[in-house]
Amino acid sequence: MAVSRDACGNYYCSFVYDDAEQHQDQDPKENTRKKREQRPMREDGTMAFDLGIKTLATGVTDQGRFYHIGGFKGYRYYNKQLDKLRSKRDRCKKKSRRYIHLSKVYKRVSERKRNKQRDCLHKASHLIAGKLAERAVVIGDLSQRQMVMKKKESETPKERNKRRIRNRMVYNDWGLYGFVQMLEYKCLRFGKELYIISERDTTKMCSACQNKQDMPLWKRTYRCSNENCGLVMDRDENSAVNIRERFLARLGPHT
Ligand SMILES: [Zn+2]
Repeated sequence: MAVSRDACGNYYCSFVYDDAEQHQDQDPKENTRKKREQRPMREDGTMAFDLGIKTLATGVTDQGRFYHIGGFKGYRYYNKQLDKLRSKRDRCKKKSRRYIHLSKVYKRVSERKRNKQRDCLHKASHLIAGKLAERAVVIGDLSQRQMVMKKKESETPKERNKRRIRNRMVYNDWGLYGFVQMLEYKCLRFGKELYIISERDTTKMCSACQNKQDMPLWKRTYRCSNENCGLVMDRDENSAVNIRERFLARLGPHT
């Protein structure tokens, strides 16, 4: 028997046993996989996701149901620890006992952070690929995104801090690219189709009247500036609806 522990502190016991019912030529892994696939799948169902920093994934189905998948929350907790450790270490003499010790602790903490984040992304992608019923999963193409804030000519200390935090999140912590990779292989495994489409203007555009307006990152709610429309909607939800509509329009008339 093997006892193991996962990142959340849950313990698992694994053991081998003889299953009298099982045919010799059957792979036990195959067995569980088939069970999972038996979840009801809506063959013509579509689910579109907006991927982001604040909320990892905001989704909307073709039936108009919304999903919010939060993602990893502990950046600040870990980053604070890591910053402290690094500054402590950098004040020590290189190669000294304390320096080496602090380096080890730093490594351990950053590994813990990475594991925790990966675990979150795995769970979220598993939810989308394995648990939700819609067969088609649509996401926006991340490579078109410009997420990193540029330095302004004259920025206040607060703005500077904000820019540094944001850029750090994009480069080190965000893990969205890894998330898309996980989605890719999990969708394949669960028999779903993953579509990656252009997300140009999906945040700027009103999902009701197609009016476009600027949406700086701090605006969390979309308030349509078109008087005749007046749509008020969560920023990510609005974007998810646009991605869904764009995908459905691309497919042409339904048969
Ligand atoms: Zn509108």
